[in-house]
Amino acid sequence: MTDTGRREYAGIDYFRLISAFLVVAIHTSPLTSFSLTADFILTRVVARVAVPFFFMVSSFFLFSKKEEVCEQSGRLMAFVKKTAELYGITILLYLPLNIYTGTIKEWRHLPNLLKDIVFDGTFYHLWYLPAAILGACITWLLIKRRTAGQAFGISMVLYLIGLFGDSYYGISEKIPFLKAFYQGLFRISDYTRNGLFFAPIFFLLGTFLARKRKRLPLRTCLSGLAVSFGLLLIEALLLYKLHVQRHDSMYFMLLPCIFFLFQSLLLWEGKSHSYLRNLSMFIYLIHPAIIVAVRGLAKAAGMQKLLIDNSILHYIAVAIGSLAAAAVLSLFVRRKPGRTAGADHTASIGSRDRAWAEINRTNLNHNVKAFQKVLPAGCEIMAVVKANAYGHGVVPVAAYLSRIGIHAFAVATIDEGIQLRKEGIKGEILILGYTPAVRAAALFHYRLSQTVVNLEHAKELNRYGRPIQVHIKVNTGMNRLGESYRHASEVESIFACKNLKVLGIFTHLSASDSQEESDVAFTKQQFQNFYGLIGRLKAKHIPIPPTHIQSSYGVLNYPELKCSYARIGIALYGVLSTTEKNTKCSLDLRPVLELKSRVVLVRTIAAGESVSYSRSFIAQREMKIAVISIGYADGFPRSLSEGKSHVLIRGHRVPVLGRICMDQLVADVTGIPDIMRGDIATLIGKDGSEEITAEQVACSAGTITNELLSRLSDSRLKRVFYDL
Ligand SMILES: *Cc1c(COP(=O)(O)O)cnc(C)c1O
Repeated sequence: MTDTGRREYAGIDYFRLISAFLVVAIHTSPLTSFSLTADFILTRVVARVAVPFFFMVSSFFLFSKKEEVCEQSGRLMAFVKKTAELYGITILLYLPLNIYTGTIKEWRHLPNLLKDIVFDGTFYHLWYLPAAILGACITWLLIKRRTAGQAFGISMVLYLIGLFGDSYYGISEKIPFLKAFYQGLFRISDYTRNGLFFAPIFFLLGTFLARKRKRLPLRTCLSGLAVSFGLLLIEALLLYKLHVQRHDSMYFMLLPCIFFLFQSLLLWEGKSHSYLRNLSMFIYLIHPAIIVAVRGLAKAAGMQKLLIDNSILHYIAVAIGSLAAAAVLSLFVRRKPGRTAGADHTASIGSRDRAWAEINRTNLNHNVKAFQKVLPAGCEIMAVVKANAYGHGVVPVAAYLSRIGIHAFAVATIDEGIQLRKEGIKGEILILGYTPAVRAAALFHYRLSQTVVNLEHAKELNRYGRPIQVHIKVNTGMNRLGESYRHASEVESIFACKNLKVLGIFTHLSASDSQEESDVAFTKQQFQNFYGLIGRLKAKHIPIPPTHIQSSYGVLNYPELKCSYARIGIALYGVLSTTEKNTKCSLDLRPVLELKSRVVLVRTIAAGESVSYSRSFIAQREMKIAVISIGYADGFPRSLSEGKSHVLIRGHRVPVLGRICMDQLVADVTGIPDIMRGDIATLIGKDGSEEITAEQVACSAGTITNELLSRLSDSRLKRVFYDL
């Protein structure tokens, strides 16, 4: 969700407190006086949800927002700093106990001290704080640098490594190389339940749930929870009875269990109880000291039988003592979290305060994979990223595509190509438009491939004297750029240019989007023209470079063509040019961009009052209207004025009134409760069950999505990238 910050989750807050008391149970074993198995179930199974839950809560609020990486890193830094400070203070507070128990002696050996600080915690429960720091950092790197699938895979592998050094160690121990591996590992960290192996998967799950729009229905959550908890119980008891466990923090079934538990809690919305956050954290941090205090006091008062030996009473005494101490501590530090929360709020809004475009990298990845599946073997995607990647933000888009294995890009102009090179994009970059030979030095310097538009152009480029990479464009019927397919000898002369390195030969289709008979015939004629020329070149023993013909519709309507590249633009961004979805092969494409803005003012107008320029809209009755901070200078077309467009606010589809202005527009929000300043208005994208597609907007504006998207303002709209 984009507005996690504004929703309140009472269920999550209550469960923080429950989790804190579960952790106290882990360290006091309340049921041992009755039955060891019952105590095992309570403290080693049920209570084991507490720490993963805390990890998930942290990431749920830390990485919830779709926002610029720099803003996210700011929040991460704040989290790391806060947690590290807390850790520093608690290390000092527990120092007397370290002295008392003698651990401090081990720290004379520096590696021991480092090991405790980074992984194991300087006191037994304190491992949680460095684990939270490490887990948050790893997760941040994963979501920044990897696709959602890769991030999940990596954190899953880490969890598995942890698992087989924890609850399943009895198995690993029997396999010599695993045993050696883990023994090496245990030299660095006493357990695998640390920030490296244990935390990342839960941090990632928290991030995933924060960004997911749809919630599972309560019934599904609860049955999922019941089933996975049942299985968790079986798993844990089996491992326990078989004596496989070295430690008992990590189980397979803990993952689905926490996943469903957290989802169930999210459905419990209501006023949040922020004081419970500090309270539960303090209970967590302070209870080991309270345990020592309770024991000391019980001994001094001769009440060992009551307060120590009776495990239930011992637990209750520690729980009450911890709660009281935590409540006192909370009183002292109450103001501080309020202040940071405020700062957090403004920081997270940042680039999303007026109008912005959200770019979903996971969907981009999905579309790439969808095309790779239909393209014949040997045909590579040449990602067309001209015009600021069709308005999506060229540098981050190209960088992401590079990372997921795209090696060829197409741009429209030399300057677009240079920009990509300066940003470190490797591989082939083809300039589809004309570049005059005066810029040959830049073509050479940045290793850009230039489209040769005819023989004359080739000769001019050739005169530069140093090797320039080119693709030869052939005109087969579009009559835009390209040497005529009829001119085999001219094309031969281009191949003969000494300083041109011919890396490709291609043509462009003019009616590949149409299934109409005459258009199909025309397109097939274009294929024949192209391959006819290729045949003649072959006959002249010219080695044929890589070929390419299709753009998006070329692939969707003629997937059978066997070329070296497919130049895919619009469809890579998950949309087609028009609302007409009828193509020969229909791929599951997912829109990558959402266009959003904010309500900046809500007012009521009386019947007879007009709205916006020219008074073209006159209210027939009393109306509530909302001013939204986006206009045609942002790229939302003015031709959508006079009732031709809608926006989504709070899941409602509402009409835009009167003229669209340069920087603002006005929507009719009559009858929609609770609308207020700061609400998000979606112009392209989904909100709740409503959706406005780019195709619909383009159609209403009398254009195609290619134009609509490529004209989204580069300077005004921030592109906010996110995964999942
Ligand atoms: C823009 C362009 C493409 C990409 O077209 P889409 O329809 O967006 O896939 C391909 N080839 C050439 C020559 C182009 O100009």
